Amino acid sequence: MGDCRTEGGATPGAVAAQLLDWYDVHARAMPWRVGPARRRAGLRPDPYPVWLSEVMLQQTTVAAVRDYHDRFTARWPTVGDLAAAADAEVMAAWAGLGYYARARNLLACARRVAADHGGRFPDTRDGLLALPGIGPYTAAAIAAIAFDRPETVVDGNVERVMARLHAVREPLPGAKRALAELAARHTPSERPGDYAQAVMDLGATVCTPRRPACGICPVVDLCGARVDGIQDTLPARLPKAAKPVRHGIAYLARRSDGLWLMERRPDRGLLGGTLGWPGAAWGPQAVAAPPLPAAWRPAGAVRHVFTHFELRLALMTAAVGLDAAPLAGSFVGVVPGELTTVMRKAHARAVQAFG
Ligand code: SF4
Repeated sequence: MGDCRTEGGATPGAVAAQLLDWYDVHARAMPWRVGPARRRAGLRPDPYPVWLSEVMLQQTTVAAVRDYHDRFTARWPTVGDLAAAADAEVMAAWAGLGYYARARNLLACARRVAADHGGRFPDTRDGLLALPGIGPYTAAAIAAIAFDRPETVVDGNVERVMARLHAVREPLPGAKRALAELAARHTPSERPGDYAQAVMDLGATVCTPRRPACGICPVVDLCGARVDGIQDTLPARLPKAAKPVRHGIAYLARRSDGLWLMERRPDRGLLGGTLGWPGAAWGPQAVAAPPLPAAWRPAGAVRHVFTHFELRLALMTAAVGLDAAPLAGSFVGVVPGELTTVMRKAHARAVQAFG
């Protein structure tokens, strides 16, 4: 396990007990969460909102997810309702959350649960893992949170807390396995669901990436990094390589009746199934013929950072008449909130350019 402290005070039983006591008082309120008091009163979480939150939270923060979660559960109160929704409606409701493959998997999963499981989520990690869009992390999280299974949930928060509690100096990503093993040792058989949420809350609110609040930490007396005074430097990370840059061009044509020329992107691939501006595939160079003849004008560029690359999208705009006959796509009304982030940025810039 390399340079890692496992002796000392951070023993599994002690960490879990102190974290659970802290959670009983300080648990964050979340729309999909059954807090410790209600849980003690016998209430059990509904797996549907728990699953929805876990899929939405992949790569996104709690603050960004709350509104989306509220909207989804208001519009589709059960997994069966979501399963019956039209693809385009769900993609539009997801717009802005990013990583659109997740929205497609969300629908595929809802439909599988409705069709093959009678609308009830499987209650084990393995059963959940067999569903579309549910990987090991999400399966463990749902099994623990919704079904109180003693599964270990390891996200960035948990890795950070483990690295600090045990003063693990080995850098990420190499230390991932060691940190997951440490996390597994701490998972209690009593209240594993509350414990999983307690560690996440600790990482999100106290043991934060910068300037951890050790003074109010419920496990400060057990923390190896604190003893060594190295909590601000952990977890260590290898330097990241710079992201490659891809170039694209987007043609934004606005018709005299206010509709815009858009086309639906192919189902597979980045932003699959969402509406986008016509233009070239993104690559080392941006070259694409316009989707219709018009007086095209350059309107600057937008920059957007995806997980694996940075996109620089050059924009061309044109005002066209009702007789415009595009080679691809169709003229539609644009609701900026239903566009993906990069397409929304391009739209805002084009609106400015039109004045
Ligand atoms: Fe994190 Fe500080 Fe608590 Fe250690 S004492 S777990 S570094 S907040």
